[in-house]
Amino acid sequence: MIAENLQQVRDTLRPDVQLVAVSKFHPVEALQEAYAAGQRVFGESHVQELMAKQPVMPSDVEWHFIGHLQTNKVKYIAPFISLIHSADSPKLLKEIDKQGQKCGRVVDVLLQIHVAQEETKFGFTPDELLDWLKGDEWKSMGHVRIVGLMAMATNTDNEAQIAGEFETVRNLFQTVKEHHFANQPSFKTLSMGMSGDYLIAQEHGSTMVRVGSLIFGERIYL
Ligand SMILES: *Cc1c(COP(=O)(O)O)cnc(C)c1O
Repeated sequence: MIAENLQQVRDTLRPDVQLVAVSKFHPVEALQEAYAAGQRVFGESHVQELMAKQPVMPSDVEWHFIGHLQTNKVKYIAPFISLIHSADSPKLLKEIDKQGQKCGRVVDVLLQIHVAQEETKFGFTPDELLDWLKGDEWKSMGHVRIVGLMAMATNTDNEAQIAGEFETVRNLFQTVKEHHFANQPSFKTLSMGMSGDYLIAQEHGSTMVRVGSLIFGERIYL
């Protein structure tokens, strides 16, 4: 089932859009099935769960962290995480830099942008992001590499609204790239789109989609 689901999602993606298989709340057997079907990039959103799965899975898996990350837990994932999508505050970025230094790594991150009309979503608003990038703090972070932006759209059936939010983030990405990362080809990732809206995201500039339930089925929250 998982192999077929994966193939169906892949068939709808352009070759330049990367697929992160969001495996949170699914047992390691489900990840192994996806791995056997060729999937190497997995997204998790809870540190404890990720720490349980990581040693069990093959070492060529690329682990992405996609959920809200508490500063006191950065130390657990800094040694191996491939990409943190959810760098949502200057404080968290400082901690990632600190832990990256401790383990001798440069940690790739995406800055999470808050555009959805939901109180609970974390992230920089576009204005906060532009303000923070005007400062110097981030330039001295030797163990963090900012490689793009991540965003979630409002959870709604209104496709025009979703498209509008993705378009806002796409424009912000272009502005930020031109002003701050023009000479850094590594700044190229725009992580947008989940099971319900990844096709819209793909039409509005996404280069990386985070798809869970379409691949693994509904999550069972215990
Ligand atoms: C859970 C989650 C996803 C995947 O959600 P689906 O609707 O199951 O595809 C994507 N992004 C983030 C940040 C998530 O927490």
